[in-house]
Amino acid sequence: MDNTSETFEESNWSSLKKDLKKTVGDTAFNNWLKHLNYVSVESSTITFSVPTKFLRDWIVNNYSDKIKNTSKKYIDKIDTIKFVVKPSGGRIVPGTTRTIKSTDNHWKSTLDVRSNQSSTYPNEFGAPLDPRFTFDNFVVGKPNELAFAASQRVAEADKITFNPLFLCGGVGLGKTHLMHAIGWKIKQQQPDRKVIYLSAEKFMYQFVRALRYKDTSAFKEQFRSIDVLMIDDVQFISGKDNTQEEFFHTFNALIEQNKQIVISADKSPSDLDGVQERLKSRLGCGLVADIHPTTYELRLGILIEKAQKRGVEIPPKVLEFLSHRIISNVREMEGALNRLVAHGTLVGTPITIETAQLVLQDLLKSSNKKITIEEIQKKVAEHFNIRITDMHSPRRSRSVARPRQIAMYLAKSITSRSLPEIGRKFGGRDHTTVMHAVKKIEELKLSDVNFNEDLELLKRLIDS
Ligand code: ADP
Ligand code: MG
Repeated sequence: MDNTSETFEESNWSSLKKDLKKTVGDTAFNNWLKHLNYVSVESSTITFSVPTKFLRDWIVNNYSDKIKNTSKKYIDKIDTIKFVVKPSGGRIVPGTTRTIKSTDNHWKSTLDVRSNQSSTYPNEFGAPLDPRFTFDNFVVGKPNELAFAASQRVAEADKITFNPLFLCGGVGLGKTHLMHAIGWKIKQQQPDRKVIYLSAEKFMYQFVRALRYKDTSAFKEQFRSIDVLMIDDVQFISGKDNTQEEFFHTFNALIEQNKQIVISADKSPSDLDGVQERLKSRLGCGLVADIHPTTYELRLGILIEKAQKRGVEIPPKVLEFLSHRIISNVREMEGALNRLVAHGTLVGTPITIETAQLVLQDLLKSSNKKITIEEIQKKVAEHFNIRITDMHSPRRSRSVARPRQIAMYLAKSITSRSLPEIGRKFGGRDHTTVMHAVKKIEELKLSDVNFNEDLELLKRLIDS
């Protein structure tokens, strides 16, 4: 047995692996340790890599003792085991090292805090910025191009053009991502400017605490000494009168001092419930940039980007499938992608539409579970102000025929009903009529931007 690091070679690694397999058993080995790779031995530390953080944590929590004991059989002086995350075919991800050190008989596991911190920017009073949320990682499409451009402008400008910038849009559409991106960009290009990002809830919490300790002046000072203030999800401020009042004053003071403010909410300022009128109008006096629900094209673009970033190859058909079927928001779509990738790496099967359907069963169900053809007909009729009976009637005038075609199209794209089934629900029409409607609407979508937006809105209404 060799006890020196210089001679710990490939062959030792494969024996060590075989040993591990014997120790933990075939099933556990194939599920977890198969993905473990040897990186290096340096003095008394042996380093392994695994493809995902999840695997790293699982292995650390369940197998580190066994790995330690087995490693010591080959290299006696080992007293530290390190695990780093390295996606297959990719590079080691910074800040992912977990170190397990021997202190007497006790092995202590730590996350490499130092390198972890360098990847998030600490924001003092505010919350840290997420390193994944940059402009480079943001995929731009029709629904978010205004918000994107405005955010970039705020981040790059040296003088203020609109104040505040108010980003509004539904959950999971990229508001927080854009705010962090602004923060990163400013840090990078104008490091002297002091940027604070925090959630409205945290803002409120700080304020209430200051009130309790009768220290509101220090609270105010903290905000007044900064250059850019970003407050996320201000819909949560609604109703709390004291906080609103304080928010309003802080806000006014900052604007008067020509400091940039960025706000996000799930609705536009005028639609915020329980917010005082004067605060509403103040919030809306800069630029209100709406982030609209995603389109199919944008969803596909985002998925392609995220898959690439992760260095995994996913067949285009599967990405198309996901973009069609997970329409609620980007976060959910990302979650689906993560699950698929995790499944792929753990089980080792190729990713196909079939596996996607299997692995994402619950997600796919929930995104179309409640939607029936009747509901689609009802919502579309309401939207176009026609009677629901017109969905079944033989009337062919344009004012009812077009909405009917839209409803057929939506029935086809949202539910899993077949063309003949859809035809039957529309007053016993033939499946070719449905096919014609679908084709017609697809043409209109391509040729008419307004129509396309209207359709997306309808889809969203139906989905919610
Ligand atoms: P919100 O704050 O609007 O609820 P987030 O900014 O938290 O949404 O976005 C949810 C997730 O979706 C994040 O992981 C974010 O990176 C991702 N995301 C949303 N929009 C985009 C986009 N256009 N390009 C890339 N990622 C996006
Ligand atoms: Mg958010």
